[in-house]
Amino acid sequence: MSFATVDPTTGRTLRTFPPHTPDEVEARLRRAEETFRTFRHTPLAERAGWMKRAGELLETEADAYGRMMTQEMGKPLEAARAEARKCATACHYYARNAERFLADEPVDTAPDQSFVRYQPLGPVLAIMPWNFPFWQVVRFAAPALMAGNVGLLKHAHNVPQCALALEELFLRAGFPQGVFQTLLVDVAGVRRLIEDPRIRAVTLTGSEGAGRDVGQRAGGQLKKVVLELGGSDPFVVLPGADLDAAVETAVKARLINNGQSCIAAKRFIATEPIYEEFERRFLERMRRAVVGDPLEAKTEVGPLALESIRDGLHQQVERSVAAGAKLLLGGLKPSGPGFWYPPTVLAQPPPGSPAYMEEMFGPVAVLFRAKDARDALRIANDSPYGLGASVWTRDEAEQRFFIDGLEAGTVAVNGMVASDPRLPFGGVKASGHGRELARHGLLEFLNIKTVRIS
Ligand code: NDP
Repeated sequence: MSFATVDPTTGRTLRTFPPHTPDEVEARLRRAEETFRTFRHTPLAERAGWMKRAGELLETEADAYGRMMTQEMGKPLEAARAEARKCATACHYYARNAERFLADEPVDTAPDQSFVRYQPLGPVLAIMPWNFPFWQVVRFAAPALMAGNVGLLKHAHNVPQCALALEELFLRAGFPQGVFQTLLVDVAGVRRLIEDPRIRAVTLTGSEGAGRDVGQRAGGQLKKVVLELGGSDPFVVLPGADLDAAVETAVKARLINNGQSCIAAKRFIATEPIYEEFERRFLERMRRAVVGDPLEAKTEVGPLALESIRDGLHQQVERSVAAGAKLLLGGLKPSGPGFWYPPTVLAQPPPGSPAYMEEMFGPVAVLFRAKDARDALRIANDSPYGLGASVWTRDEAEQRFFIDGLEAGTVAVNGMVASDPRLPFGGVKASGHGRELARHGLLEFLNIKTVRIS
């Protein structure tokens, strides 16, 4: 496995990075374990100062970090800068709130005195993907470090510069050596780490397949694991919705991050009376999406991050059309260099076809015609995934029906699903388990210790 920066606009390898040797990995593991012994006792105010400083660095250097992300995985530059700034908000959020989240909680068990104390677990292994190369990592690291854990990052093989920059970021912010380290290791190396007794817990953001593998291995070691996996989020539009806003948001929610987001809206379900109008406007807007150089301000869609992602996506489109889905837009794989794929729209895929059942990680939207609200909910839930869901209606009874009925970790009403440091984030079904962000995310990697004094 080679760690390399490959320009997704051309497919050219720009830089390669040698993996860490077994001795280097061992030294880093040892350092993590030793650092944890003292780091867990550092005053929270001190940790908060370092975390705040990390946030400030992310803000002031958003342009440089953004360019690094765009170069390694192809997202539009402005979105990459925004990602760095969003990371800053998470750092500030946990710097401000961790002390309150971690305070002892008294429980009335009179005449005994009882309380709950929150203590860190130790070194946590974070296996992270390339799609939000900073955000996915910081949303794990900010709460974990504030709680007194130490982090070891195994980042995706195609974002080594981001991986190394993140280690440096926390060092520059003032965190002691060993609190947050990057390991350039391949999947076989990760498997050894999961088995290492010094690793106390594991978190993975990535594909369902990686989730099953990591979940089984961590489970075999009786280690806590948080899994944030794929999604095929439904976007339901009902009569009476603000159709202009729904269409504009639908296209944005599908094309965000060049279509490579776990919480991108992927399946668009409109009911009979408005289906034709929704399809017409949606297609028209998708057709106008500007595809091009991610460094240019007007670009809405850049290349996909990896050749394997692009080719896998195209196969899904071809198999879906062969199974009977209608191709309304795009669907042709460009022949030149780079990992480009055009905005594509499929409609009415038969149950069981890839567009119906699988996650489409790229700018491919799938339209569904539903008979009514009940039928729309049935289609929305007829997926192995359950990450986010968006529903568009002004009718409050319909809103309640979907809030209750959608099988998803997040429901957005008249808006787009997006992560926010203040709100818990995660999924159900094949989208994984456990939560990130908010207080819920911070509690995942803690010993919730019950104390009772008689
Ligand atoms: P992967 O799940 O393969 O990669 C994510 C991370 O997990 C990488 O660091 C990868 O390392 C690592 N990894 C992969 N397999 C294992 C394993 N068996 N044990 C331990 N670590 C592992 O994602 P891909 O990049 O291959 O993308 C494939 C699909 O995954 C996408 O099409 C999409 O459906 C989904 N995906 C979902 C994401 C999300 O945000 N939920 C993010 C990225 C992908 P390495 O890079 O070295 O292989």
